[in-house]
Amino acid sequence: MPALLARRSLFAMLTGCALCAKAVAADGGLCETGIEQSPIDLKPLHGTVDTRTLPPLQIHYKIPALHVVKTKYSFETTVAPGNAIVIDGTVYDLASFHFHTPAEHRMGQRSFPMEGHFVHRSGENLAVLGVFFEYDTADNAALAPIWALLPATEAPQPVAPAIDLRRLLPPGQQNLFRYMGSLTTGNCNEGVVWTVFPTALKASRRQVETFTRHYPHTMRDIQPLNRRFLLRNSSV
Ligand SMILES: [Zn+2]
Repeated sequence: MPALLARRSLFAMLTGCALCAKAVAADGGLCETGIEQSPIDLKPLHGTVDTRTLPPLQIHYKIPALHVVKTKYSFETTVAPGNAIVIDGTVYDLASFHFHTPAEHRMGQRSFPMEGHFVHRSGENLAVLGVFFEYDTADNAALAPIWALLPATEAPQPVAPAIDLRRLLPPGQQNLFRYMGSLTTGNCNEGVVWTVFPTALKASRRQVETFTRHYPHTMRDIQPLNRRFLLRNSSV
């Protein structure tokens, strides 16, 4: 086995990351030329879902959300160090989270009005948790302190009252899809470990529309699965 592959985790090999290495496009981005791009359809027309037992996803969120700041594409909520997830033995620290309307990932015919992305880092490597939101008549109380700060400003605005980040993750967190993909904004860099939960949280139509009013067009089109593995955890 080549040294490069030997350094990869079993998970990375299972999910096809051996395909990750490729020349970066002349413009510095992979948005047009990448073959392991995000988002994807989690019930792909071309390709299959590979159901297998995955190591438990560990989520250690302890520190509440900190600040809301305006970004180039949307807004993001930053958090203090101290929140982490563990995927296949690698610890990734939560850096920030943000939202897209409508949701970027799809499940066949099913699409969702909003999706949250929790972005984690382990050195240069990224892991993102994707959380769907579906409509409810009531506001999502955990989102309310963040939404109260929209539109975000360049200067960080403190989130008050502080929110427990665990309330922004769905129940049944071992029920998940996993694949190797990319950032959906910026240079679309690949090698991102994606975990998407099929169980949706709820948000009011008013909340989703408020976000869309401030940040329209935050969804990237579905990208082809190509030769990647799309895994669904069977140990739920
Ligand atoms: Zn995102």
